[in-house]
Amino acid sequence: MSQQGYVAAPPYSQAQPGMGGYQAGFGPGPAQPLYGHYGGPPQAFNGPPAAMMKPPASSAAGMPPPPVSNQYNPNVQQNGAHPQRYPAPPAVTSPYGQPPPASYNNMASPGPPQTHQLTNQMSAMALGNYGGAMQSPPPPTSSVAQQPFQGPPPPAIGQPQMAPGQHPPLMSAQMSPPLSPPAGMPPMAGPPMTGMSRPFPGPPQHPAGPAGFQQPGPAGFPPQAGQFGGHMAGPQPGMPGAFPAAPASMAGPPQKKMDLDSIPSTTQVIQDDRVQHGGQIFCTNTRGQVPPLVTTDFTVQDQGNASPRFMRCTTYSLPCTAELAKQCQVPLAAVIKPLARLPKKETPLCVVNHGDSGPVRCNRCKAYMCPFMQFIDGGRRFQCGFCSCVNEVPDSYFQHLDHLGRRVDLYQRPELSLGSYEFEATIDYCKKNHPPNPPAYIFMIDVSYNNIKSGLVKMICEELKTLLEKLPREEGMENSPIKVGFVTYNKVLHFYNVKSSLAQPQMMVVSDTAEMFIPLLDGFLVNYQESSAVIANLLGQIPDMFADTNESETVFAPVIQAGVEAFKAAECSGKLFIFHSSMPTADAPGRLKNRDDKKLVNTEKEKTLFQPQKSVYEQLSKDCVLTGCCVDLFLFPSQYVDLASMADVTSHTGGSVYKYNNFLMAKDGEHFLRDLRKDVQKSIGFEAVMRVRTSTGFRATDFYGAIHMNNTTDVEMAAVDCDKAVTVEFKHDDTLSVESGALIQCALLYTTISGQRRLRIHNLSLNCSSQLSEVYRSSETDSLINFFAKSAYRAILNQPIKTVREILVSQTAHMLACYKKNCAGPSAASQLILPDAMKVFPVYMNSLMKTAPLVGSTELPTDDRAHQRLLVMSLGVEDTQLMLYPRLIPLHSMDANSEEPPAPVRCSEERLCESGIFLLENGHVMFLWLGQAISPDHAQKIFNVPSISHLQGHMSTLPEVDNPLSRKIRSIISSLQEKRSNSLKLQIVQQRDKAELLFRQFLVEDKGLYGSASYMDFLCYIYREIRQLLT
Ligand SMILES: [Zn+2]
Repeated sequence: MSQQGYVAAPPYSQAQPGMGGYQAGFGPGPAQPLYGHYGGPPQAFNGPPAAMMKPPASSAAGMPPPPVSNQYNPNVQQNGAHPQRYPAPPAVTSPYGQPPPASYNNMASPGPPQTHQLTNQMSAMALGNYGGAMQSPPPPTSSVAQQPFQGPPPPAIGQPQMAPGQHPPLMSAQMSPPLSPPAGMPPMAGPPMTGMSRPFPGPPQHPAGPAGFQQPGPAGFPPQAGQFGGHMAGPQPGMPGAFPAAPASMAGPPQKKMDLDSIPSTTQVIQDDRVQHGGQIFCTNTRGQVPPLVTTDFTVQDQGNASPRFMRCTTYSLPCTAELAKQCQVPLAAVIKPLARLPKKETPLCVVNHGDSGPVRCNRCKAYMCPFMQFIDGGRRFQCGFCSCVNEVPDSYFQHLDHLGRRVDLYQRPELSLGSYEFEATIDYCKKNHPPNPPAYIFMIDVSYNNIKSGLVKMICEELKTLLEKLPREEGMENSPIKVGFVTYNKVLHFYNVKSSLAQPQMMVVSDTAEMFIPLLDGFLVNYQESSAVIANLLGQIPDMFADTNESETVFAPVIQAGVEAFKAAECSGKLFIFHSSMPTADAPGRLKNRDDKKLVNTEKEKTLFQPQKSVYEQLSKDCVLTGCCVDLFLFPSQYVDLASMADVTSHTGGSVYKYNNFLMAKDGEHFLRDLRKDVQKSIGFEAVMRVRTSTGFRATDFYGAIHMNNTTDVEMAAVDCDKAVTVEFKHDDTLSVESGALIQCALLYTTISGQRRLRIHNLSLNCSSQLSEVYRSSETDSLINFFAKSAYRAILNQPIKTVREILVSQTAHMLACYKKNCAGPSAASQLILPDAMKVFPVYMNSLMKTAPLVGSTELPTDDRAHQRLLVMSLGVEDTQLMLYPRLIPLHSMDANSEEPPAPVRCSEERLCESGIFLLENGHVMFLWLGQAISPDHAQKIFNVPSISHLQGHMSTLPEVDNPLSRKIRSIISSLQEKRSNSLKLQIVQQRDKAELLFRQFLVEDKGLYGSASYMDFLCYIYREIRQLLT
């Protein structure tokens, strides 16, 4: 696996003091911030234009265009690159006479967040907007109609010009009369908001007071001012922005509330995209077309480009030059999920057979036949779209061209007309030129004391009796071709002969774990259907055989080695399902010792906690990949097990790690079984090699995933299942052409479960542009954050977490500053301007920095941090989106008879209320949060108890109570369980319970448990960074 990553790119390798570092603080930064993400020389922004240094009051109206005005293309903007402007204060002067906080430590290290000052700063932001931006004309290029949350245009005249520092008198004038909440609005701000068409300038869709978030409207935006206003006593009843039932009563001492509705909302962005694209058909016939969001339900029609289910990009319009890419620092990457599931309504991929000669390819770059090949010379030759080489068309593939120069069989051939398809691979694509055997699954069960005592072994054996009936099979086939085998182990390994002709299974023990070998060939890997009686017999006996065990020591690496040897002997690939409970301390290869050291947290050496113990496991990974042995690890630890080392092989072989801390059958049993069932039944390919080719001018340089790399181009995966994604970063080699665009072809060579060698091809064409505004307009926040998560999580293997965080912040600020400078048009210097496609990028970025791997807290278990780090490396775009912005669904106010689940609300405690019931879910965990003042009616209907004080013990499922509300909630939960790629463990938490803290860490817009910033604070900080960059 490539260890280049961020090490190669300066930012992660060079801590640049003060460059956006939180430690370096909120205070004045370095005069010349440096950049160099793309490997170029550190680069500073151009000197500040004089006008921008002046206070907004004097610069707003007559400000000259930004210095690099040639980048600014009004037409492009009009076509959709509309900037989002957010109120923002001058950061240097505080209207309240308070100096800006001297340092801002609360993100990098736990410490008291400076709520008060930040609050005041945010007030200043809002108020500054009122003053400063008030008279700044709406940007000439932005279209009101295209901005769902932008208010009606402000009146052109009549607004006095005003500097931020001067606002208070005007503010108070504007604030009266306060608006009443819209009719029918419940006391909670959350749920009702989502139904509104433009919630984010806050509630008021008031005829009398058109209010724009961006262009501050005329008088009549009191809620925002009220919420921000540090000088206001608190929530004011009757004002839409006030949340009477909310946080003040929940989170200890009352604080000044900031109005969430004034900052960009992820739930709203998701909602808007659903309204725009939901239920529609997305045709992939246009180059550089930005697909609907991952959260939108749409149908894809392949018309020449790969479906976004297979491939998504950080931007669909690449900057033409490396220089431009460096300037904007928008990462250029694709997130590829080559075997992604397709919904039933979409056509499965066609399989093409080009006969004995195999798929037609370009002779020079080896790209596969695809819609980007141009046929010329009457159809006798074709020019490669990737390298421009002109190739002879093989006689067997010849076809005439029509008057438009297209082959007349264009639509009969998937490889000429579709973005995605498969080729049957010839013998040349097989290992040792031999067609592969169908793969095998080996179930390897740790039968040491802990697993026997917890009942886990019995549970696994019981489950396998039915689960093995459901092994993946090819479409239309009655039985699965996958073979199965069984091993149990503690300090020694037990292999089982389950040959169908045997009356009883036979056990063979291997105690020499140093030189692992397989004691039997015939009868170890068998067809389940043929041997089902013997297997049932075995599974029935295993728990009894070890019932009296006292053995608590285990081996681990030899278990994986045994799997590798078994696959080698059987000449097949396959997957190991290892069910393991403790750190392998028995004397054997791969023995581990406790190296957990909390003293390393927040030091230069913290990275060692994430690094695997090399040697044995590194070699084992290579062996596994070579053999096509994927390792899935189900861990049941009761203490530290050195997950970073134990899961190392898994993370390089396309496997998954599941972890159940302090496993209790009653609490976790069902959760584990759901995971196991999903995992066993997943569609999957083996012995995979992925190659990403690009047209000239750029190339794939870095790869992130559960992968192994022996060279710089071939992505090897022992197996790849339908949920695994590889994120590929691209860099420029040369200038890209606006006319010809940029092409990507991903070819995945793999073995199907029935042992066929296939090539799956995904093609995608992107635009190229010399306009930065186009790059931003075509960007995709969800893919960007996937890239940032993976690159940061890899970077922490080599660099201090603090440095990694600093780079994340600095790059965020840089991307947004570059946009403001080059694409946003004339605007008040005090405005925070975000590209439309990135307007919620900061909330994701802040959420990412609050994830366990990036938070240096001694309270977080090292194994949990290592687990999350590895988990994320193979996630696709929808998974990282959900992980970093969980769904928070209000259940108490929904219509129990409606078909649709309620719309999610923002992940903030402000949206909670004492009488509320909320479901929170992030693809991995699920919480049912119960407010303190839930009505007895709700308690009765949902839990069948008179009040929630009667709830006791662990509850992992809801009781089946016969009423619409109970049915509806259970159906929402089960449909989420169904949809997600792994099981969601349901945890019920009550407001103010100790367990509520677990829930609260997923309210990603709020301050983190370990001192990390709220979304509001982060935005404020980023805003200041941007100001700094631009002055
Ligand atoms: Zn070529």
